[in-house]
Amino acid sequence: MPSHPINEPILGYAPGSEERRALQAELDRQMAEVVEIPCIINGEEVYTGTTTTQVIPHKHGHVIANVHLAGRDEMEAACEAAVNAQKAWIDLGLEARCAIFERCADLLAGDWRMRVNASTMLNQSKTAFQAEIDAACELIDFWRFNCHYARGFHDDFQPLVSPEGVQNSTEIRPLEGFVLSITPFNFSSIAANLPSAPAIVGCTGVWKPSRNSYLSNYVLMQLMMEAGLPAGVINFLPGSGAEITEIALANPDFAGLHFTGSTATFQGLWQEIGLALPNLKSYPRIVGETGGKDFVVAHPDCDRQGLLVALLRGSFEYQGQKCSAASRAYIPQSVWNAISEDLLAEIGKIKMGDARDFTNFMTAVIDKRSFDKITGYIDRAAARDTCDIVCGGGYDSSTGYFIEPTIIVTSNPNSESMIEEIFGPVLTVYLYDDEDFDNVLKICDEASPYALTGSIFSSNEENIQKAYNALRFTAGNFYINDKPTGAVVAQQPFGGARASGTNDKAGGPLNLLRWISPRSVKRTLDTPQDWTYSFMQPDEN
Ligand code: NAD
Repeated sequence: MPSHPINEPILGYAPGSEERRALQAELDRQMAEVVEIPCIINGEEVYTGTTTTQVIPHKHGHVIANVHLAGRDEMEAACEAAVNAQKAWIDLGLEARCAIFERCADLLAGDWRMRVNASTMLNQSKTAFQAEIDAACELIDFWRFNCHYARGFHDDFQPLVSPEGVQNSTEIRPLEGFVLSITPFNFSSIAANLPSAPAIVGCTGVWKPSRNSYLSNYVLMQLMMEAGLPAGVINFLPGSGAEITEIALANPDFAGLHFTGSTATFQGLWQEIGLALPNLKSYPRIVGETGGKDFVVAHPDCDRQGLLVALLRGSFEYQGQKCSAASRAYIPQSVWNAISEDLLAEIGKIKMGDARDFTNFMTAVIDKRSFDKITGYIDRAAARDTCDIVCGGGYDSSTGYFIEPTIIVTSNPNSESMIEEIFGPVLTVYLYDDEDFDNVLKICDEASPYALTGSIFSSNEENIQKAYNALRFTAGNFYINDKPTGAVVAQQPFGGARASGTNDKAGGPLNLLRWISPRSVKRTLDTPQDWTYSFMQPDEN
């Protein structure tokens, strides 16, 4: 038995399997209901009466939930509840806190799995497989491994030296105050992990879910309560991010921000926190994982079929709505000549539609705003002389927000779709002369402000090392001969630098360290009884 947790095995949902039957039954059940979603403040459900609806992105005429939005009173009450809950939460101790989150993981691995997966499939338009790797497996792993890492701190960070007569120790305290977690739509696992990770080490907080994932996030909040999460430790607040931020920052006990979402939103939040500083008791911790413009660089000597598969899966799984999705590729002309026909033929086989039809590889993008943004990039590329749309380019929002898997080939490595985050099923390819590998590494490094993930494809170690060195700061998660998506907790801790975030590596111990504020304790066994020192004695003559 290993001394650490193991990654949750991924269920396959093959035809005839028990999990497929169970998931389909749960999807049918959830399709037939409209859930009333409250705020949860101090363990109480609060139905505010100010509601919005939650629809299915691939069938936007279908309402799956009515959501009661938090107003200023609820926001203030939630911050206060978190502050009031902290002492008892600390007193409970690490082991008891871990037991609750490990119970969360067990529930999710067991009876709750289909409920959480189905709500993620309907709420965020994920296929069964994409929901399974996100909402079930990754979140189970976050909970189990974070508990494991947190236990390690107590031993790892004890002082090395305690001279005779002295006992030195370090208390792993949480931050004093509450943590505001603002979460993205695209991963249910990230949404639940952002408030959970600080909670494991003793912080309490307020969780503001994305307006596009209220149902799946609410189900996860219910799961945590079922597992025994005490009232007030995590307060669930659907509502305006700007307003919640304003109210949280007006509270002197605001101790940290745990954010995942777009770069622009995070930059704004950081600035607001700076302005609020004089009112706060502590310097808050700011952790944010943000956008990406993730790359694939191929060398002429690469495995061409491997590259083809990586481009297809890396760019189009979950409709390209992963911060890690491959969205720019630098391909040598000879490789493109060899693979482009097959690549386009394979993309032509991709089926897109309702998440409940398991033969679909893609479903819809998240909402109208996203649909308009992505199709704007496609339309502008279509109008440019330097860009050629070689597949896809079509879109239709009549029943759901569907956009075809699209590849733009460009002769301009700095064209808009080559450097900006699109967050949709659009890959832009820059073709380079086979001799220009060194130069293309430099272009890749300098073209975009982001630095989240990226891949090098080559079968020669010298070329791999060249890319490894040239792209050192171009990606926080670097892949060799693999797609740039699919990081696994405890295997590839996740995060990027530059405009992609603070690189605090979710899914690894470094993230948890941001939520602790240690206390060094010295106990003297021989307390001095004389205030004078020997140097003060007069010379003997
Ligand atoms: P978003 O920035 O639109 O929203 C993220 C969260 O911020 C939501 O809860 C939203 O309501 C809130 N928000 C928006 N404006 C706000 C404001 N003014 N004040 C306070 N809160 C505000 O992002 P999204 O569309 O939900 O997610 C997609 C983005 O997230 C992409 O840029 C993607 O790259 C990024 N992402 C990054 C990672 C990572 O690990 N680096 C992981 C997932 C997603």
